[in-house]
Amino acid sequence: MTGKSTAIATNDYDVIIIGSGMGGLVTATQLAAKGAKVLVLEKYLIPGGSAGYFEREGYRFDVGASMIFGFGTEGTTNLLTRALDAVNVSLETIPDLVQIHYHLPNNLDLKVHKNYDKFIDKLTAKFPHEKVGIRRFYDECWQVFNCLNAMELLSLEEPRYLMRVFFQHPFACLGLVKYLPQNVGDIARRYISDPELLKFIDMECYCWSVVPADKTPMINAGMVFSDRHYGGINYPKGGVGTIAEKLVEGLEKFGGKIEYKSRVTNILMEKDRAIGVRLANGKEYRAKRIVSNATRWDTFEKLLPSSRMPKKEIKWQQRYEKSPSFLSLHLGVKSEVLPTGTECHHILLEKWEAMEDEQGTIFVSIPTLLDPSLAPKDHHIIHTFTPSYMKEWQGFSDQEYQHKKEEAASHLVERLEKVFPGLIEGLDYQEVGTPRTHRRFLGRDQGTYGPIPSRKLPGLLGMPFNRTVIPGLYCVGDSTFPGQGLNAVAFSGFACSHRIAVDLGL
Ligand SMILES: Cc1cc2nc3c(=O)[nH]c(=O)nc-3n(C[C@H](O)[C@H](O)[C@H](O)COP(=O)(O)OP(=O)(O)OC[C@H]3O[C@@H](n4cnc5c(N)ncnc54)[C@H](O)[C@@H]3O)c2cc1C
Repeated sequence: MTGKSTAIATNDYDVIIIGSGMGGLVTATQLAAKGAKVLVLEKYLIPGGSAGYFEREGYRFDVGASMIFGFGTEGTTNLLTRALDAVNVSLETIPDLVQIHYHLPNNLDLKVHKNYDKFIDKLTAKFPHEKVGIRRFYDECWQVFNCLNAMELLSLEEPRYLMRVFFQHPFACLGLVKYLPQNVGDIARRYISDPELLKFIDMECYCWSVVPADKTPMINAGMVFSDRHYGGINYPKGGVGTIAEKLVEGLEKFGGKIEYKSRVTNILMEKDRAIGVRLANGKEYRAKRIVSNATRWDTFEKLLPSSRMPKKEIKWQQRYEKSPSFLSLHLGVKSEVLPTGTECHHILLEKWEAMEDEQGTIFVSIPTLLDPSLAPKDHHIIHTFTPSYMKEWQGFSDQEYQHKKEEAASHLVERLEKVFPGLIEGLDYQEVGTPRTHRRFLGRDQGTYGPIPSRKLPGLLGMPFNRTVIPGLYCVGDSTFPGQGLNAVAFSGFACSHRIAVDLGL
């Protein structure tokens, strides 16, 4: 066993989960529902991680995610609905009929409506010469989605499930096998040649995958580009944080436990097998299986000795790099800043060349347009964020850091003012978060949003599943298949819990 402990807790658990992000909580609730004895250890004060919240002066701000997929009522890809159902909890959601209002270079102003035909018509009106290509490209995304949405989504590491699902849905399975190694860019170029439209497809990918179409797996795009018109985008009443709160309620109903302010510092090993964890306060817990909801970099470089990093992880780190983190601005504004008809989610970019740059693309979310209870009367929340690397924020004195934060915030607000005139006048509250904030509060190396391909890879083939080369240790969350996003990490949670349940004979 590694190191020394100051206190040993002897309680045995079936499964310990490090972290209560959405990936960790879905794994925990699924396993508790199957009868496993589960303990979740969360370093922060509340659950949710990147899908958490914080409150200031009457505003309830979402930390990160706010465009929520997975709350549909039909099919099999509505994984958040299913995760809540599994532990007998539910929450009210508010449909968002426009996924994104794009404000792009050359006056490309476009809304992605929930109604598929309406979206296709609006896009075609901007690029009439690409009418056929637009329809063919997005229809092909539906083919991917229809395959996924035909089957129960569980662990691809479980051979009996794979056999069962293949016999039940042979064509859907073959369809997925075909798309698994493909990226969006190659498929888009088969149908579309207008360079500006291809830039738009790049942005359609970048705004959730943080890489352009050439590096974005077709499986993920099939989900996003179709589910927004199928299950749609739905915002949880009370804010995104309620999803995690409800899952915890469900976990506890089924006998699971969660402990906050419990930072895991080490995964304990015995004969090369993961057998427990040690907390910062020295307390140790043991379990038959250990799951890390921390990123792979945090898991294999910090919770385990980096000197013994498995070869497989070294290879993975060569294929995938850390995406940038974000500069986030949480604003409270007077309601008159937003004219009637303003949409909840916006993407802003002034020059195509800047799409992937430090503080290039701007993301905006105004959840109070859907749920006014999140802000004081006659006020709105504007959460805006833009990709930013840790290196931009290091090596400063406290004073310099504060100054840089203020400067960056003003610049962001000035850019937003062009879309929301009167914003500066109407500001009521402002809080700035940097990559350092993301690292500190979310425990994510460099504050990263997650892994991105370091070069063009064959679709999703390189993303690891939940088992690791260390017996007894599993990973869940956005550094496992199929990647970032709440519904995606919920998928990872379903898969991880399924594999563990089979391993434990539950
Ligand atoms: C600004 C921003 C905007 C986003 N917008 C969207 C969106 O609109 N829609 C969408 O679907 N997705 C969005 N995402 C992505 C989405 O939020 C994430 O992909 C997802 O929430 C990640 O979940 P996770 O379970 O993998 O990890 P995390 O949310 O990172 O959770 C990991 C948890 O583990 C805890 N932890 C880490 N290390 C330890 C340790 N050693 N001991 C104990 N606990 C530990 C952390 O405190 C945290 O609670 C956004 C993300 C960000 C940052």
